[in-house]
Amino acid sequence: MSDFQRICLVHYHEIGLKGHNRAVFEMRLLKNLEAILADFPLVTIHRISGRLCVFMKEGTSYEVANACADAIVNVPGVARVSCGFKCERDMDVMGKAAVGALSEAGLFESFKVSARRNHTDFPIDSMQMNRDIGAVLCDAFPEKKVRMKDPDVTVGVEVVQNASYVYARSIRGIGGLPVGSSGKVMCLMSSGIDSPVALWRIARRGAVCLGVHFSGRPQTADTSEYLVDDIAHVLEKTGCVARVYVVPFGDYQREISVLCPPSLRIILYRRLMFKIAEQIALREGCGALVTGESLGQVASQTLENIRATDAAVTMPVFRPLIGTDKIEIIDMAQKLGTFDISSIEAPDCCTLFMPRSPETHANLEEVEAAEALLPLDKWIPELVEAAEVHDYACPAFKPKRR
Ligand code: ATP
Ligand code: MG
Repeated sequence: MSDFQRICLVHYHEIGLKGHNRAVFEMRLLKNLEAILADFPLVTIHRISGRLCVFMKEGTSYEVANACADAIVNVPGVARVSCGFKCERDMDVMGKAAVGALSEAGLFESFKVSARRNHTDFPIDSMQMNRDIGAVLCDAFPEKKVRMKDPDVTVGVEVVQNASYVYARSIRGIGGLPVGSSGKVMCLMSSGIDSPVALWRIARRGAVCLGVHFSGRPQTADTSEYLVDDIAHVLEKTGCVARVYVVPFGDYQREISVLCPPSLRIILYRRLMFKIAEQIALREGCGALVTGESLGQVASQTLENIRATDAAVTMPVFRPLIGTDKIEIIDMAQKLGTFDISSIEAPDCCTLFMPRSPETHANLEEVEAAEALLPLDKWIPELVEAAEVHDYACPAFKPKRR
C-alpha cells in the first residue's frame, strides 16, 4: 500500500488537434469516463493541463488501480493511460513516489526517467529532474541499469501547477475520438464476426452507435438475438452502443422466397433490411448506416451487389471493413472480445431460405423489377413497428424526443 494518492493520467492527442472544439471533446471524454468507471473507487476526474486525471480513493490497491487503467485504455479517445501517484511539487517527495511507482513495475532490468514541467514556475527543469530522480532510483534499485534507448520501464514525472504526477506503468490506448463527438449511426448487426468490429471502428471515430438486428424469428429460434445482446454488452463496456432494435424478419423472408426468383433472394432480403434500418435511423436522428461488409468476402459483397443494396436507400452506407481481410477482422474481434460470442452458430435471417446459387453480379433493373412484386409499402411500416428495443449504457446518447 502506498502513501500517495493513486491516479490514472489519461492522455489524448487527436483531441488536442481540434482547436476551439477541444474543450467540448475533453468534456465528452470526461463524461464518458465518469460513466464507464462508475464501479471503480474514484474521487473525481479532472482536466489538468492537456490531460484528464482520474483520482482514486485513499487506500485503493495497485490491482484495482490497474484494472481501472485497463478499462480506460479501451475507451475511444484515449491515446495512453499512465497509472501512478499524485504528490507534492517537492523533489524529495517526488523521488519517493518514483521509488514507489518503480517498485510496482514488475520484472524489469533497465529504466529511465522522463520528466516534464508544464509550468516554468517550478524551478527545476526537466533535464535536472531526470538526473535527480534518476539518482534516487539508482540508489533504491542498485542492481538495475539506466538505459536511455528502449528501457524496460520509463518512469514518467509530470509537474503541473499545483501538483506532480509520477508513474511507471503507461499503456497505449485505442485512440480515436470520444463517442458522442461525431453524431449517431445505425449499424446493421448480425451475430457474426464482422458487424461488431465495424460498429467498433465507427464508434472509435466518435459516433454513437445504435444497432438493428434482423432475426429469423418466428421461422427460426431466437439464438441470434441472445448473441447480439451478449455482443452489445461487450461493446457497452466502452460506451459505444446505445440501443439495439431487433426485427423479427423470418415470415417476410419466407414471403420473398415464395414470390421472387431464388437467385435474387439475398439481395432482396438485404435491400429490405437496409430500408427498415434507414427508417429506424431516421427516427433516431442517425446520419448513416454501417455494415460489416468486406469486398468480395461472400456472394452478396461483390461490387454489383453492394451497388444494388445501396440503391435501396438514400442514406450514406459506411463499410469500415471494406478493405480488410477476414484474418485482420478476426484479430480485431479477438481484441475487442466479441470473437467467441460471434463464433457460436446461430440461424439468422441470412441463413434462412438461402438459394442454391445466389446472384453474384446483380442487375439493378432486374432486382427492382423483382422487388416490385413485394408489398413493401405495407411491410416496411409493419416491420418498423414490430421492432423490439433494447437499451444499453451509453453516456453520450441522448434519446430523440418523439
Ligand atoms: P457478419 O460476420 O457481420 O455477419 P458476414 O461476413 O456474415 O458478416 P453477411 O452475412 O453478408 O456477411 O452480412 C454482411 C453485413 O450485413 C453484416 O456485416 C451486417 O452489417 C449486415 N447483416 C447481415 N445479417 C444481418 C442481420 N441478420 N441483421 C442485421 N444486419 C445483418
Ligand atoms: Mg452474417
